Amino acid sequence: MSDVTSVELRALMARVPSVEQVMTSADFLALTEAFGRSQVLAGLRGALDNWRVAAQAGQALVASLEVPQLALSVGQGLRERARAKFRSVFNLTGTVLHTNLGRALLPDEAISAVVKALTQPSNLEFDLDTGKRGDRDDLIDEIICELTGAEAATVVNNNAAAVLLTLSALAPRKEVIVSRGELVEIGGAFRIPDIMSRAGAKLREVGTTNRTHLKDYDEAIGPRTALMMKVHTSNYAISGFTKEVSVAELAPLSRARGVPVAVDLGSGTLVDLTQWGLPREATVLETILAGADLVTFSGDKLLGGPQAGLIVGRRDLIAKIKKHPLKRALRVGKLTLAALEPVLQLYRAPEMLAERLTTLRLLTRPADVMRAAAERLQPVLQRMTGERYEVAVEPMFSQIGSGALPVDVLPSYGLVVRMADGKRGGRQLLALEKVLRGMSRPVIGRIADHALCLDLRCLEAADEAELVAQLSGRGGAQ
Ligand SMILES: *Cc1c(COP(=O)(O)O)cnc(C)c1O
Repeated sequence: MSDVTSVELRALMARVPSVEQVMTSADFLALTEAFGRSQVLAGLRGALDNWRVAAQAGQALVASLEVPQLALSVGQGLRERARAKFRSVFNLTGTVLHTNLGRALLPDEAISAVVKALTQPSNLEFDLDTGKRGDRDDLIDEIICELTGAEAATVVNNNAAAVLLTLSALAPRKEVIVSRGELVEIGGAFRIPDIMSRAGAKLREVGTTNRTHLKDYDEAIGPRTALMMKVHTSNYAISGFTKEVSVAELAPLSRARGVPVAVDLGSGTLVDLTQWGLPREATVLETILAGADLVTFSGDKLLGGPQAGLIVGRRDLIAKIKKHPLKRALRVGKLTLAALEPVLQLYRAPEMLAERLTTLRLLTRPADVMRAAAERLQPVLQRMTGERYEVAVEPMFSQIGSGALPVDVLPSYGLVVRMADGKRGGRQLLALEKVLRGMSRPVIGRIADHALCLDLRCLEAADEAELVAQLSGRGGAQ
């Protein structure tokens, strides 16, 4: 369109309706009911301002000033603003404990406990026996000690906080001995040397990257030594000519020299996972029995609970940790405690754990189950993607995630999408990945070997029905 003359422009501007008049229309009263007057008013003013700018450029239609048109565009803007940024997705990455997708999913018992904690007052810090002020740790330290064999326990925001607090409380301006083979970096800027300096402790490295001996620890102990610390090498393995000193080997030295051993176990598992065919991980109980004075571990990794950091061990050391001012800053909220207790309760019936603990149920799903789901979903996804893509049912490997060895893989099944013409089609695969990621409940897969892989391990029945509806266009893709 060409530029408008000033006469035409004035005539156009005169067509803009009065805000008050539009606001009292039935359409806008309905919007006001849903979103509140101030948001709707701001939305309408914005829409009219945009129209005026467009009119000056000769690009506005008088028809879009009609009330139903205005209501449609203002309503759409308001609905977009109101949509939560924090959303559910489908985790088809094949990584069960995916840190970026929220790690462990909680069992029903934990969900209802959280709902209660959110909607009803609780005895969070109130001792029901004495009627006096209580300590929030008292709600769960007993069951944690029962399951780990420790004397005492405390809970903080996450395992990084647990390590930071332990070092801050027990080793300020003192030395902490760590093997060079265990100076780990966990994703997201958790590095042992950095945590150490943040906590005001001095790192005393011993041994070499591949080999550390008991005498390395022995020779490093001096008057300024506060702790010997072992760190689970969660995300890598050193193989070949190696030597690591176990907790059991360190324990006699620790007792003889009076230097406690703290172990950062990372993914703190409470039961022997090999009984379900999963990789071997030292349990917290075994680590305590081997002689660790303190163990720190995550609540939302293999334990299968909410984000939390658990510190268990010797009563005197836990008492010192609980007295440190950082404990107050790193403490957990009531929702975490509400969710953690029922998860820990499930461990009292280990025979039923693989059924009832969501994380373990997902980790132990047989490949056949995923294969059957893949066969049901194949035609649905094929119809959605169209002829340019070829959707196949194929075996693949899932990962545990979150600090279990990346080499420990679990046989699974899923859908693999490639270009039907046999070409690599990197850009089209990325485009399809983006479409799936843009759905109302985003579908997150992974691109590997010129294919888009959707591992169905983490898709249980209710989610499968929802995914089918969404892929068939009944779930509201946008
Ligand atoms: C995962 C991990 C951490 C960090 O735990 P968060 O709960 O994520 O804070 C620390 N140490 C080790 C060895 C880990 O595996």
